[in-house]
Amino acid sequence: MSESGCPPGPAPEPHRIVKRTLRDLTAAELFRQRALVRVDFNVPMEDGRVADATRVEASLPTLRHLLKAEAHPVLLSHLGRPKGTPDPRYSLEPVADVLSSRLGSPVAFGGPADGVDAVAASRALAGGEVLLLENTRFLPGETSDDDTLAERLAELGDFFVNDAFGSMHRAHASTVGVTRHLRPAVAGFLVEAELLALGRLLESPERPFVVALGGAKIADKVELLERFAERADRLLVGGAMANTFLAARGDATGRSLVETDALEAARQIAERAGERLLLPTDVVVAPGPDEGASAEVVGPGEIGEDRAALDIGPRTRERFGAEVAGARTFFWNGPMGLFEREPFQEGTVALARAAGEATDGGAFTVVGGGDSAAAVRRAGMADRVSHVSTGGGAALEYLASGSLPGVEALDDA
Ligand code: ADP
Ligand code: MG
Repeated sequence: MSESGCPPGPAPEPHRIVKRTLRDLTAAELFRQRALVRVDFNVPMEDGRVADATRVEASLPTLRHLLKAEAHPVLLSHLGRPKGTPDPRYSLEPVADVLSSRLGSPVAFGGPADGVDAVAASRALAGGEVLLLENTRFLPGETSDDDTLAERLAELGDFFVNDAFGSMHRAHASTVGVTRHLRPAVAGFLVEAELLALGRLLESPERPFVVALGGAKIADKVELLERFAERADRLLVGGAMANTFLAARGDATGRSLVETDALEAARQIAERAGERLLLPTDVVVAPGPDEGASAEVVGPGEIGEDRAALDIGPRTRERFGAEVAGARTFFWNGPMGLFEREPFQEGTVALARAAGEATDGGAFTVVGGGDSAAAVRRAGMADRVSHVSTGGGAALEYLASGSLPGVEALDDA
């Protein structure tokens, strides 16, 4: 996303989103109005400091747009998983300084989001100032979407902007409840970009449409697999997920990570996808993750009892790469192997490169999932693919089901 400012260009065609966005609010609707913004500042913390500010930076286009229009941004976010009570380890206070330095504007930290002080602070904001409130998950009614809490949160703004795509699969007080009491309720620019990119995969993707799925959690991804088993022209399956498919068709998988609970699901998905499903034709095996030195390439039926499949092999890399090269639309979730360990990253790196090259050739390419996004970044391809979703679970749920509670709650376009 561009850092220069806002808004980030006109909404790209052909896909349109059905929800109102910040772009749709007039200058008069913004001027000197309090913008209650749900952001995703669920950043990694180390020793009380922000270890990675990517998510803070992702909020800048929306916040700059609001400040330029002389709106008064009041920010809500969660951080970590405190259990409805204050826990200093999860305080958002350190994020205020990080945001201030990135934004180049003063950011006040306002304490508990449900307090009278917070409402007073929101009303006292001067032009160019931002107010960040404390972790919403310190509040007992947040995750249960308590309506009294939702109503109090709604008092913090004159309109609502949801820019926390990664939290939109949760019906919480700060994502859904607040919209019962505060309108307009619109999507911020980060959410808009996610909905445009993911929506294009859901509705009439240009064909061939190739999907690659991998990673470790097949049980979490059954719906995604089912959907793409129907809709994709090619379904490439690698990573530990492939082991479950191999086991489901009767191949020996040795010590490989296999989800025994998902064998029947894998069998049904394989049947539904038929010839469109491609499984590895060779795999990299080793006695364990720490024994990369003795890694070797074998066929899928040849995984020894004391070996684990930890990456796709060279023939599979080439085959999968050729499919991606021929795609007009490509979606990828889940690393092709145990990419955190150097000798098992080649399949993932090769697929990331293929995605980058396909994009150069005019294909529309999207990578989603926490580890997958980290993998394309590590492969240096994050800027070359069309869109890297920061949404994690929300992105996968949106692709699997076509809707999210936080999206449904916003004003219709
Ligand atoms: P995402 O976060 O992108 O949705 P997942 O969380 O499903 O992806 O899976 C990522 C994890 O899967 C990584 O930690 C990776 O090391 C692991 N993984 C991928 N392939 C294998 C494999 N063959 N054996 C063991 N772990 C694997
Ligand atoms: Mg993950």
